[in-house]
This record gives sequence, structure tokens and C-alpha cells, in this order.
Amino acid sequence: MPSKVYFGSAHQARLEASETLPAKLDLILDQLHLRERVKGETVVIKMHTGNNMSYSTVHPVFVRRVVQAVKDGGGKPIVVDVNWDAAGAEMRGYSNEVIGCPVYPAAGPDEKYFYAHERTYKNIKHWLVAGLIEDSSFLINFSHVKGHPTCSFGAAMKNIALGCLAGETRGAMHDSMHFDPYWFPEKCPDPSALQAIIASCPFSAVVEDKENPGHLHLHMEQCNQCGRCLKVAPAGSLKIDAVNFLTFQEAMAHAVDIVLSTFAKEKIVNLSLATHMTPVCDCFGFTSMQILPDVGIFGSDDIVAIDQAVLDLTASLRLIEEDLPTSMEVHTRTGHPFSWMHGPLKDPYAVLEYAEKLGVGSRKYELVDVLPVEKLERSEMPYIAAH
Ligand code: SF4
Repeated sequence: MPSKVYFGSAHQARLEASETLPAKLDLILDQLHLRERVKGETVVIKMHTGNNMSYSTVHPVFVRRVVQAVKDGGGKPIVVDVNWDAAGAEMRGYSNEVIGCPVYPAAGPDEKYFYAHERTYKNIKHWLVAGLIEDSSFLINFSHVKGHPTCSFGAAMKNIALGCLAGETRGAMHDSMHFDPYWFPEKCPDPSALQAIIASCPFSAVVEDKENPGHLHLHMEQCNQCGRCLKVAPAGSLKIDAVNFLTFQEAMAHAVDIVLSTFAKEKIVNLSLATHMTPVCDCFGFTSMQILPDVGIFGSDDIVAIDQAVLDLTASLRLIEEDLPTSMEVHTRTGHPFSWMHGPLKDPYAVLEYAEKLGVGSRKYELVDVLPVEKLERSEMPYIAAH
């Protein structure tokens, strides 16, 4: 049976508060029966509260409504984020006074409070789940939808995969992209050829390895797979290969599987706000121009289904290319607009395919619009002669 994804459109017919997104969030919370489900629960609300001066994260108006719903239902809410984002959260409006509950670093102020889970995936053996996540009995995963340089797209899956693991595991997940070899130095014995490869990349994605001089290191997050480096690299010395990019997405699927396994299935709710979608993650510490039109707000018990619905509803939107930072480049216009920005090998759907295979959720869903935008009928206008 397909999973239900509740949706409230950012569009409205009338200029009335009841047709705007916070009100539609309330309708989604009703449909998810949140209040009835949280009695006596310790409810951890995982958010990305942004960093430094970013302002496109989930606005406190929405967070306050979720916190209040939890309190109304008899639950005990806390908001958590990774330590370096939680530390300045009040600068961006996420304070107890405003949202109605405290904001804590999920794995403690030094990222030393976690529970280790064993699972071998490439370079990763231990997955350190943040202590405040695992200690809680109910999870509300409230994400902001945006682009992301490592995997092209960040929303529900990414909010858990990176935000609920301690720093050591987050680092290992990024390192996993280097597990499969892409640099073959024996095919490039000439140091000047190495320098030519480095010089060919307009995004500084390819550099000399600091720890291994004479070797090459690829900053995957900066690479949009334009292929310029391959034009100058000696044959067989460098690969820009899907496996390296997809590894991060598969690692994310494992991380989500492990984190969610610490909760009973019926004690997980996912909410995603698809407004002011920026090219890169909210952790960059600033807010860029939005690169897709606002879509709305989503809610589901199924983390895979909610991301699938978000991707499907954004897939046919026009990427606002003129609002991209000029340091970015669109060189291939196939696939999802998030891939247009970050390159074809960063396929936003990949993480969902991996997660579905692990049994985390379903890509099949039924979209339920909680307040369809009414099409208002108007009578025909009379003919007005031009003078
Ligand atoms: S493919 Fe393009 S972006 Fe990636 S490292 Fe090569 S030159 Fe740089």
C-alpha cells in the first residue's frame, strides 16, 4: 500500500490566513494525529537551525506550532541540531521564548554524547547516533528543502542522515566518497601534467593531496562533473565516476536506517517545508536567492515517501538560473533541477532507492492535498474600447 504524504500548497486563492502555510501545517498535524500520538513521550524535534546569518531555514512560526501541538498532546518537546548550529540558534530566532522549548546540541556541546552502532559500509564501521536522539521516544523530523553540494538535495533524509550522527561519523560519511579509487598516479608520472589537471578545474575541486604530495584529491562537493579535468588528464589517470558520488547517498541511507531503528515505527513523523529553496545547504551560514518557486509543506510518517513527493513536485519546476550565484554553472539540463546545479552524477533520487532497498520506507505514495487551492470563477469582463 502506498504511504500517505499530506501536502499544503504555498499557493492560495484568497488573501486569508487560513489558506497560508502555517495554517496548512496545522491541518497536516491533524491528519497525522500528532497530538494523539505524543502523550507522555519525550519528543525530539530534529531541525536544521541554520548557521551564522542564514534566514531561509524553517521559520520559528512553524516550529512554535509543532511545539505547541506536542505540548497540547501531553508530550515533552525539545529541538535539537548539531552542536555548531545549535550554539547560535537563538541568533536566528530559535529560542525557548519564541518556539516554546529549548534548543540543544543533539550529541552534546562537544559531540561526545552518542551511542555506537556497528555496521560495516566501505570505510565506516561504527555509526555514532547522537545521544539526545536515541534517548528520546518520539521523533519529529522537520526539514527545510534546499539544494546540497554533496548530493544535490537536502530534506528529510539528509536532516536525519547527517544531523542525527555525531561529528566523527559525519566526517567518515564524507570520506566514504574517496573509498573507491579515482586517481591512478602511475598513469600520470609527469608533475606538470598533475598541475595542468589542477589548473583545469574552474571550481578548485581538484587539488594536490595535502597529506600525500604528488597525488590528487577531489573535493566532490565542489565538482559538477563538467569534465574539463578529464580533457587534460593523461589517459586512465583520473576518473570522475558515479560510484564515488553515489557512495555518499548510500551511506546516508544506512545512517537513516540506523537512526530510525532506535524508534518504534509509529513514533516517527516527518515534516518538510519547501520554500525559499537555495542552491546549497543551510549550514553555509548565509541565505542565497531562491532557485525554485515555493512549493509548500509536506507531512508523512514515511521518510522515503516524503522526500520522493518533494522531488516529484519540484522536478518540473523551472530552475531560476539567473538567480544562481555566478560561481555556479549549469552545463547539463537533464534529470532533476537539483542535478542541473550540482551535476548529473549527483542524482537526488539515489538516496531514496538505497533507502527503499534497506526497508526504510516506500517510494510509492498517495499525495493528499489538505486544502486544495480553489479555482475562483469570474464572470466575463465587458468589452472596454481602447481610446
Ligand atoms: S569534472 Fe569539472 S568540476 Fe569536477 S574536478 Fe573536473 S574540472 Fe573540476
